[in-house]
Amino acid sequence: MNGLKTAILPPFMQQPVLFYPQLAQPRKIIITVHQKPDGDAMGAALGLYHFLKNLGHDAVVISPTNWANFLNWMPGSNAVVDFERFREKSVQLISEAEIIFCLDFNVLHRIKNLAPFIEQSKAAKVLIDHHEQPQEDEFDFGISDTNKSSTCEMVYDFIIASSYAEKINSDIAACLYAGVISDTGSFKFPATGASTHSMVADLKRRTNFNHTIIHENMYDNFLEERLRFIGHALLYRLDVLYEENTAMMVIPKADLVKFHIKTGDTEGLVNYLLSIEGIKFGALLIDREEERKWSFRSKGDFDVNVFARNHFEGGGHKNAAGGRSADSLEANVKIFKQVLKQYKEQLQ
Ligand code: 5GP
Ligand code: MN
Repeated sequence: MNGLKTAILPPFMQQPVLFYPQLAQPRKIIITVHQKPDGDAMGAALGLYHFLKNLGHDAVVISPTNWANFLNWMPGSNAVVDFERFREKSVQLISEAEIIFCLDFNVLHRIKNLAPFIEQSKAAKVLIDHHEQPQEDEFDFGISDTNKSSTCEMVYDFIIASSYAEKINSDIAACLYAGVISDTGSFKFPATGASTHSMVADLKRRTNFNHTIIHENMYDNFLEERLRFIGHALLYRLDVLYEENTAMMVIPKADLVKFHIKTGDTEGLVNYLLSIEGIKFGALLIDREEERKWSFRSKGDFDVNVFARNHFEGGGHKNAAGGRSADSLEANVKIFKQVLKQYKEQLQ
Protein backbone atom coordinates (compact mmCIF):
# COMPACT_ATOMS: atom_id res chain seq x y z
CA MET A 1 0.00 0.00 0.00
CA ASN A 2 2.94 2.29 0.62
CA GLY A 3 4.04 1.57 -2.91
CA LEU A 4 0.65 2.71 -4.06
CA LYS A 5 1.07 6.01 -2.27
CA THR A 6 4.58 6.72 -3.50
CA ALA A 7 4.16 5.39 -7.04
CA ILE A 8 3.05 8.73 -8.40
CA LEU A 9 4.23 11.21 -5.77
CA PRO A 10 1.42 13.63 -6.39
CA PRO A 11 1.54 17.11 -4.95
CA PHE A 12 -1.75 17.96 -3.35
CA MET A 13 -4.40 19.21 -5.77
CA GLN A 14 -2.85 17.87 -8.92
CA GLN A 15 -5.28 16.91 -11.59
CA PRO A 16 -7.14 13.66 -10.91
CA VAL A 17 -5.73 12.26 -14.13
CA LEU A 18 -2.60 11.45 -12.09
CA PHE A 19 -4.68 9.31 -9.83
CA TYR A 20 -6.46 7.23 -12.47
CA PRO A 21 -3.63 4.71 -12.98
CA GLN A 22 -4.36 3.51 -9.45
CA LEU A 23 -7.82 2.46 -10.64
CA ALA A 24 -6.40 0.33 -13.47
CA GLN A 25 -6.77 -2.84 -11.39
CA PRO A 26 -9.47 -3.83 -8.87
CA ARG A 27 -8.96 -2.08 -5.55
CA LYS A 28 -10.50 -2.16 -2.10
CA ILE A 29 -11.97 1.30 -1.79
CA ILE A 30 -13.72 3.16 1.03
CA ILE A 31 -15.75 6.28 0.37
CA THR A 32 -16.52 8.52 3.30
CA VAL A 33 -18.37 11.81 3.84
CA HIS A 34 -19.02 14.35 6.60
CA GLN A 35 -21.12 13.46 9.64
CA LYS A 36 -24.91 13.63 9.16
CA PRO A 37 -24.42 13.50 5.38
CA ASP A 38 -26.73 15.75 3.38
CA GLY A 39 -27.95 15.24 -0.18
CA ASP A 40 -24.67 16.37 -1.70
CA ALA A 41 -22.52 14.16 0.53
CA MET A 42 -24.68 11.07 0.10
CA GLY A 43 -25.28 11.69 -3.61
CA ALA A 44 -21.55 12.14 -4.26
CA ALA A 45 -20.64 9.05 -2.25
CA LEU A 46 -23.23 6.83 -3.94
CA GLY A 47 -22.64 8.29 -7.41
CA LEU A 48 -18.93 7.49 -7.06
CA TYR A 49 -19.74 4.11 -5.46
CA HIS A 50 -21.80 2.97 -8.46
CA PHE A 51 -19.13 4.22 -10.85
CA LEU A 52 -16.32 2.38 -9.04
CA LYS A 53 -18.43 -0.80 -8.85
CA ASN A 54 -19.08 -0.54 -12.58
CA LEU A 55 -15.31 -0.38 -13.07
CA GLY A 56 -14.93 -3.61 -11.08
CA HIS A 57 -13.70 -2.25 -7.76
CA ASP A 58 -14.69 -3.42 -4.30
CA ALA A 59 -16.19 -0.17 -2.96
CA VAL A 60 -17.98 0.52 0.34
CA VAL A 61 -19.48 3.79 1.60
CA ILE A 62 -18.99 4.46 5.32
CA SER A 63 -20.90 7.33 6.93
CA PRO A 64 -19.55 8.67 10.26
CA THR A 65 -23.12 8.89 11.62
CA ASN A 66 -26.71 8.22 10.59
CA TRP A 67 -28.43 10.31 7.94
CA ALA A 68 -31.87 11.67 7.04
CA ASN A 69 -34.56 9.19 5.96
CA PHE A 70 -35.29 11.28 2.88
CA LEU A 71 -32.00 10.05 1.40
CA ASN A 72 -32.96 6.39 1.63
CA TRP A 73 -34.47 6.32 -1.87
CA MET A 74 -30.98 6.66 -3.32
CA PRO A 75 -29.88 3.47 -5.04
CA GLY A 76 -27.19 1.83 -2.91
CA SER A 77 -28.14 3.64 0.32
CA ASN A 78 -29.07 0.33 1.97
CA ALA A 79 -25.43 -0.78 1.59
CA VAL A 80 -24.00 2.33 3.31
CA VAL A 81 -22.33 1.42 6.62
CA ASP A 82 -23.15 3.66 9.59
CA PHE A 83 -19.90 3.84 11.57
CA GLU A 84 -21.69 4.52 14.86
CA ARG A 85 -23.83 1.40 14.49
CA PHE A 86 -21.26 -0.89 12.88
CA ARG A 87 -18.00 0.21 14.37
CA GLU A 88 -16.09 -3.07 14.24
CA LYS A 89 -17.07 -3.77 10.67
CA SER A 90 -16.11 -0.21 9.67
CA VAL A 91 -12.71 -0.44 11.36
CA GLN A 92 -12.08 -3.78 9.63
CA LEU A 93 -13.04 -2.35 6.22
CA ILE A 94 -10.81 0.69 6.74
CA SER A 95 -7.86 -1.48 7.76
CA GLU A 96 -8.16 -3.41 4.48
CA ALA A 97 -8.70 -0.36 2.24
CA GLU A 98 -6.15 0.59 -0.41
CA ILE A 99 -7.85 3.85 -1.36
CA ILE A 100 -10.09 6.15 0.70
CA PHE A 101 -12.16 8.84 -0.99
CA CYS A 102 -13.07 11.75 1.29
CA LEU A 103 -16.06 13.59 -0.14
CA ASP A 104 -17.80 16.85 0.77
CA PHE A 105 -15.58 17.64 3.78
CA ASN A 106 -11.99 18.81 4.04
CA VAL A 107 -11.15 18.81 7.74
CA LEU A 108 -11.04 15.59 9.72
CA HIS A 109 -13.09 16.83 12.67
CA ARG A 110 -16.11 16.76 10.33
CA ILE A 111 -16.05 12.95 10.37
CA LYS A 112 -16.20 12.88 14.18
CA ASN A 113 -15.18 9.57 15.76
CA LEU A 114 -14.23 8.09 12.40
CA ALA A 115 -11.35 10.60 12.11
CA PRO A 116 -8.58 8.68 13.95
CA PHE A 117 -9.19 5.55 11.86
CA ILE A 118 -8.99 7.43 8.57
CA GLU A 119 -5.99 9.41 9.77
CA GLN A 120 -4.06 6.27 10.77
CA SER A 121 -4.93 4.30 7.63
CA LYS A 122 -2.11 3.69 5.17
CA ALA A 123 -4.50 3.84 2.20
CA ALA A 124 -4.12 6.58 -0.41
CA LYS A 125 -6.50 9.36 0.60
CA VAL A 126 -8.25 11.26 -2.14
CA LEU A 127 -10.12 14.47 -1.39
CA ILE A 128 -12.97 15.70 -3.59
CA ASP A 129 -14.54 18.75 -1.98
CA HIS A 130 -15.75 22.32 -2.42
CA HIS A 131 -15.43 23.83 1.07
CA GLU A 132 -13.00 26.62 2.00
CA GLN A 133 -9.55 25.99 3.52
CA PRO A 134 -8.76 22.27 3.17
CA GLN A 135 -6.50 20.54 5.71
CA GLU A 136 -4.07 19.71 2.92
CA ASP A 137 -1.56 17.48 4.74
CA GLU A 138 -4.26 14.92 5.54
CA PHE A 139 -4.77 13.93 1.88
CA ASP A 140 -2.51 12.35 -0.74
CA PHE A 141 -4.46 13.42 -3.79
CA GLY A 142 -7.15 15.96 -4.08
CA ILE A 143 -9.40 18.28 -5.91
CA SER A 144 -10.53 21.21 -3.81
CA ASP A 145 -12.54 23.76 -5.75
CA THR A 146 -14.59 26.27 -3.80
CA ASN A 147 -16.16 27.58 -7.01
CA LYS A 148 -17.97 24.32 -7.66
CA SER A 149 -21.70 24.09 -6.98
CA SER A 150 -21.43 20.78 -5.20
CA THR A 151 -19.24 17.77 -4.57
CA CYS A 152 -21.57 15.88 -6.92
CA GLU A 153 -20.54 18.15 -9.77
CA MET A 154 -16.90 17.41 -8.91
CA VAL A 155 -17.54 13.65 -8.87
CA TYR A 156 -19.15 14.04 -12.29
CA ASP A 157 -16.01 15.89 -13.52
CA PHE A 158 -13.86 13.13 -12.03
CA ILE A 159 -15.86 10.49 -13.90
CA ILE A 160 -15.80 12.39 -17.20
CA ALA A 161 -12.04 13.03 -16.97
CA SER A 162 -11.43 9.33 -16.28
CA SER A 163 -12.47 8.51 -19.86
CA TYR A 164 -14.95 5.94 -18.55
CA ALA A 165 -17.98 8.19 -18.96
CA GLU A 166 -19.82 5.35 -20.71
CA LYS A 167 -20.11 3.72 -17.26
CA ILE A 168 -22.60 6.41 -16.20
CA ASN A 169 -26.02 4.84 -15.68
CA SER A 170 -29.32 6.16 -14.32
CA ASP A 171 -28.35 5.26 -10.71
CA ILE A 172 -25.25 7.42 -10.94
CA ALA A 173 -27.20 10.22 -12.64
CA ALA A 174 -29.93 10.15 -9.97
CA CYS A 175 -27.47 10.33 -7.07
CA LEU A 176 -25.42 13.15 -8.62
CA TYR A 177 -28.51 15.14 -9.61
CA ALA A 178 -29.90 14.86 -6.07
CA GLY A 179 -26.67 16.28 -4.66
CA VAL A 180 -26.67 19.15 -7.10
CA ILE A 181 -30.21 20.21 -6.28
CA SER A 182 -29.46 19.95 -2.54
CA ASP A 183 -26.43 22.18 -2.63
CA THR A 184 -27.68 24.71 -5.19
CA GLY A 185 -31.19 25.09 -3.76
CA SER A 186 -32.39 23.63 -7.07
CA PHE A 187 -30.07 25.77 -9.24
CA LYS A 188 -30.68 29.00 -7.31
CA PHE A 189 -27.47 29.73 -5.36
CA PRO A 190 -24.62 31.77 -6.91
CA ALA A 191 -22.26 28.77 -7.22
CA THR A 192 -24.59 27.29 -9.85
CA GLY A 193 -22.58 27.65 -13.04
CA ALA A 194 -22.94 26.88 -16.72
CA SER A 195 -20.97 23.72 -15.90
CA THR A 196 -23.70 22.70 -13.44
CA HIS A 197 -26.43 22.99 -16.06
CA SER A 198 -24.23 21.27 -18.68
CA MET A 199 -23.69 18.38 -16.31
CA VAL A 200 -27.42 17.92 -15.80
CA ALA A 201 -28.07 18.14 -19.55
CA ASP A 202 -25.37 15.55 -20.18
CA LEU A 203 -26.72 13.17 -17.50
CA LYS A 204 -30.21 13.58 -18.89
CA ARG A 205 -29.05 12.82 -22.44
CA ARG A 206 -27.05 9.81 -21.36
CA THR A 207 -29.58 8.18 -19.03
CA ASN A 208 -32.92 10.00 -19.26
CA PHE A 209 -33.15 9.81 -15.44
CA ASN A 210 -36.44 10.94 -13.90
CA HIS A 211 -35.78 14.30 -12.22
CA THR A 212 -39.40 14.79 -11.07
CA ILE A 213 -39.31 11.68 -8.92
CA ILE A 214 -36.02 12.80 -7.40
CA HIS A 215 -37.52 16.17 -6.35
CA GLU A 216 -40.52 14.36 -4.84
CA ASN A 217 -38.27 11.94 -2.96
CA MET A 218 -36.17 14.77 -1.56
CA TYR A 219 -38.80 17.40 -0.76
CA ASP A 220 -42.27 15.83 -0.63
CA ASN A 221 -41.59 12.88 1.57
CA PHE A 222 -42.08 14.04 5.17
CA LEU A 223 -44.49 13.33 8.00
CA GLU A 224 -47.27 15.76 8.95
CA GLU A 225 -45.43 16.44 12.22
CA ARG A 226 -42.50 17.96 10.40
CA LEU A 227 -44.72 20.48 8.63
CA ARG A 228 -46.38 21.39 11.92
CA PHE A 229 -42.94 21.77 13.51
CA ILE A 230 -41.95 24.27 10.81
CA GLY A 231 -45.17 26.23 11.46
CA HIS A 232 -44.44 26.23 15.17
CA ALA A 233 -40.84 27.34 14.66
CA LEU A 234 -41.83 30.18 12.32
CA LEU A 235 -44.51 31.38 14.72
CA TYR A 236 -42.71 31.10 18.04
CA ARG A 237 -38.96 30.79 17.49
CA LEU A 238 -38.18 33.51 14.98
CA ASP A 239 -36.43 36.73 15.97
CA VAL A 240 -35.92 39.42 13.32
CA LEU A 241 -33.13 41.90 14.09
CA TYR A 242 -33.96 44.61 11.55
CA GLU A 243 -31.07 46.88 12.55
CA GLU A 244 -28.61 44.22 11.41
CA ASN A 245 -30.77 42.89 8.56
CA THR A 246 -30.55 39.54 10.32
CA ALA A 247 -33.12 36.89 11.18
CA MET A 248 -32.43 34.23 13.76
CA MET A 249 -34.26 31.16 14.93
CA VAL A 250 -33.52 29.21 18.08
CA ILE A 251 -34.95 25.72 18.54
CA PRO A 252 -34.94 24.33 22.08
CA LYS A 253 -34.67 20.60 22.70
CA ALA A 254 -38.28 20.47 23.92
CA ASP A 255 -39.51 21.33 20.39
CA LEU A 256 -37.48 18.51 18.87
CA VAL A 257 -38.97 16.08 21.37
CA LYS A 258 -42.54 17.36 21.02
CA PHE A 259 -42.62 17.01 17.22
CA HIS A 260 -40.46 13.86 17.10
CA ILE A 261 -37.88 15.64 14.97
CA LYS A 262 -35.32 13.30 13.43
CA THR A 263 -32.05 13.76 11.53
CA GLY A 264 -32.80 15.74 8.39
CA ASP A 265 -36.14 17.16 9.51
CA THR A 266 -34.59 20.57 10.19
CA GLU A 267 -32.90 20.75 6.80
CA GLY A 268 -34.09 23.75 4.81
CA LEU A 269 -35.51 25.52 7.88
CA VAL A 270 -32.72 28.12 7.80
CA ASN A 271 -33.67 29.14 4.26
CA TYR A 272 -36.98 30.63 5.45
CA LEU A 273 -35.00 33.30 7.27
CA LEU A 274 -33.64 34.75 4.04
CA SER A 275 -37.11 34.91 2.51
CA ILE A 276 -37.91 38.04 4.54
CA GLU A 277 -37.47 41.21 2.49
CA GLY A 278 -34.18 42.96 3.21
CA ILE A 279 -32.73 40.16 5.35
CA LYS A 280 -29.14 39.35 4.40
CA PHE A 281 -28.09 37.03 7.19
CA GLY A 282 -30.00 34.05 8.58
CA ALA A 283 -28.85 32.10 11.64
CA LEU A 284 -30.48 28.95 12.98
CA LEU A 285 -29.47 27.47 16.33
CA ILE A 286 -30.61 24.01 17.35
CA ASP A 287 -30.13 22.34 20.70
CA ARG A 288 -28.82 18.95 19.63
CA GLU A 289 -27.94 16.22 22.06
CA GLU A 290 -24.17 16.65 22.14
CA GLU A 291 -23.84 20.29 21.11
CA ARG A 292 -25.57 23.46 20.00
CA LYS A 293 -25.52 23.43 16.21
CA TRP A 294 -25.53 26.63 14.14
CA SER A 295 -26.52 26.98 10.48
CA PHE A 296 -25.68 30.25 8.78
CA ARG A 297 -26.90 31.52 5.40
CA SER A 298 -26.38 34.87 3.71
CA LYS A 299 -27.22 36.79 0.59
CA GLY A 300 -24.64 38.87 -1.26
CA ASP A 301 -21.23 39.72 0.16
CA PHE A 302 -21.69 38.86 3.81
CA ASP A 303 -19.28 35.94 4.38
CA VAL A 304 -20.76 33.39 6.78
CA ASN A 305 -17.74 31.08 6.39
CA VAL A 306 -15.64 33.79 8.06
CA PHE A 307 -18.35 34.47 10.65
CA ALA A 308 -18.63 30.76 11.54
CA ARG A 309 -14.85 30.37 11.77
CA ASN A 310 -14.40 33.48 13.89
CA HIS A 311 -17.13 32.84 16.42
CA PHE A 312 -18.58 29.33 16.35
CA GLU A 313 -15.87 26.71 15.56
CA GLY A 314 -17.25 26.20 12.09
CA GLY A 315 -16.85 27.02 8.45
CA GLY A 316 -18.21 26.12 5.03
CA HIS A 317 -18.87 28.46 2.14
CA LYS A 318 -19.33 32.21 1.75
CA ASN A 319 -23.14 32.04 1.68
CA ALA A 320 -23.72 28.80 3.64
CA ALA A 321 -21.81 27.62 6.67
CA GLY A 322 -22.24 25.80 9.95
CA GLY A 323 -20.83 25.95 13.44
CA ARG A 324 -21.17 24.53 16.91
CA SER A 325 -20.70 25.29 20.58
CA ALA A 326 -20.65 23.41 23.86
CA ASP A 327 -22.33 26.35 25.64
CA SER A 328 -26.03 26.57 26.44
CA LEU A 329 -28.62 27.92 23.99
CA GLU A 330 -28.95 31.10 26.04
CA ALA A 331 -25.19 31.69 26.12
CA ASN A 332 -25.02 31.16 22.35
CA VAL A 333 -27.78 33.66 21.68
CA LYS A 334 -26.07 36.20 23.90
CA ILE A 335 -22.71 35.78 22.15
CA PHE A 336 -24.37 35.89 18.74
CA LYS A 337 -26.19 39.15 19.43
CA GLN A 338 -23.04 40.65 20.90
CA VAL A 339 -20.71 39.79 18.01
CA LEU A 340 -23.36 40.65 15.43
CA LYS A 341 -22.95 44.33 16.33
CA GLN A 342 -19.43 44.25 14.81
CA TYR A 343 -20.97 43.34 11.46
CA LYS A 344 -23.75 45.91 11.43
CA GLU A 345 -22.11 48.02 8.72
CA GLN A 346 -21.29 45.06 6.50
CA LEU A 347 -24.93 44.03 6.73
CA GLN A 348 -26.37 47.36 5.54
P1 5GP B 1 -25.44 23.27 7.34
O1 5GP B 1 -25.92 24.56 7.89
O2 5GP B 1 -26.34 22.76 6.26
O3 5GP B 1 -25.11 22.27 8.39
O4 5GP B 1 -24.04 23.58 6.65
C1 5GP B 1 -23.91 24.53 5.63
C2 5GP B 1 -22.66 24.29 4.86
O5 5GP B 1 -21.51 24.48 5.69
C3 5GP B 1 -22.53 22.87 4.31
O6 5GP B 1 -21.86 22.92 3.07
C4 5GP B 1 -21.69 22.18 5.34
O7 5GP B 1 -21.00 21.11 4.76
C5 5GP B 1 -20.77 23.30 5.81
N1 5GP B 1 -20.39 23.16 7.22
C6 5GP B 1 -21.20 22.98 8.27
N2 5GP B 1 -20.49 22.93 9.42
C7 5GP B 1 -19.19 23.08 9.07
C8 5GP B 1 -17.96 23.11 9.80
O8 5GP B 1 -17.91 22.99 11.02
N3 5GP B 1 -16.81 23.29 9.09
C9 5GP B 1 -16.82 23.42 7.72
N4 5GP B 1 -15.65 23.59 7.10
N5 5GP B 1 -17.96 23.39 7.02
C10 5GP B 1 -19.12 23.23 7.66
MN1 MN C 1 -21.56 20.01 -0.52
